[in-house]
Amino acid sequence: MPLLRAATLAALGAMMLAGPGKPEGSPQVLPAQTIKSVPTSKKLIAFTFDDGPNRRYTPKVLALLAQHHAHATFFVIGQEVVRCPDVIQSIKNAGMEIGNHGLHHRWLRKMTPGAVKEDVTGGADAIVAAGGPKPYLYRLPAALSDDVSRSVLGTLRYTIVSWSVDTRDWRRGISTDRIVKTVLHDAAPGRIVIMHDGPAHREATLAALAQVLPALEGQGYRIVSVGELLRNSEFAAQRAIPPSAARPIAKPKPRPHSRGWLQSIWLRRIG
Ligand SMILES: [Zn+2]
Repeated sequence: MPLLRAATLAALGAMMLAGPGKPEGSPQVLPAQTIKSVPTSKKLIAFTFDDGPNRRYTPKVLALLAQHHAHATFFVIGQEVVRCPDVIQSIKNAGMEIGNHGLHHRWLRKMTPGAVKEDVTGGADAIVAAGGPKPYLYRLPAALSDDVSRSVLGTLRYTIVSWSVDTRDWRRGISTDRIVKTVLHDAAPGRIVIMHDGPAHREATLAALAQVLPALEGQGYRIVSVGELLRNSEFAAQRAIPPSAARPIAKPKPRPHSRGWLQSIWLRRIG
């Protein structure tokens, strides 16, 4: 009964957004959209770092990024943020973007809506308590989700950020060379690279980063955060289109007086 299930989830989302007193006719909440790359002709590539903040490795990643005028998004784990809030300050002061990777790195599958909401909002609260901005991007631990968690994330106004360049740098014993080859082979405009700045054994990641940043620069790429990639793409227009099986990619049309409510929210969030 997929239709019934979708209706139930939509009702759940609307309830969580609106609360019991909201009048009927309020806009329907959509499940969170997942992006792994964005359509753009510009030579932009986004770098993302998961599982930090980490006192040992995050500052080294920040130093390498600064050296190459590169930006990135750090998807931090709330419990690690609580452990080292000063590193969140360093990320923020370096002009980097901070995304939510959950409070306890829970796999958002087969969980109740309440449990999903608790882990996601717990992660966001930890970031804000450490002086960071309220996050609007979420990365799924282990890339796992289901209808329930995507619905809750949609209700909380998150965009799920996946990836299109998988360095697999989390694998113990992976070589620097392997990571470098993956990034340089798969790099393309609008793609999103995943790496890790925590919790341990990040030497290969750092060594690879020291090679790929200048190599991509040399190819004419600008290395950006996910937010910057989105601002330079047609994503905002896509977001305003109700989801369908095909998820059409539309060219944005100039509609200064008839901006959709979702687009308005989105533009306000990334602006
Ligand atoms: Zn992770």
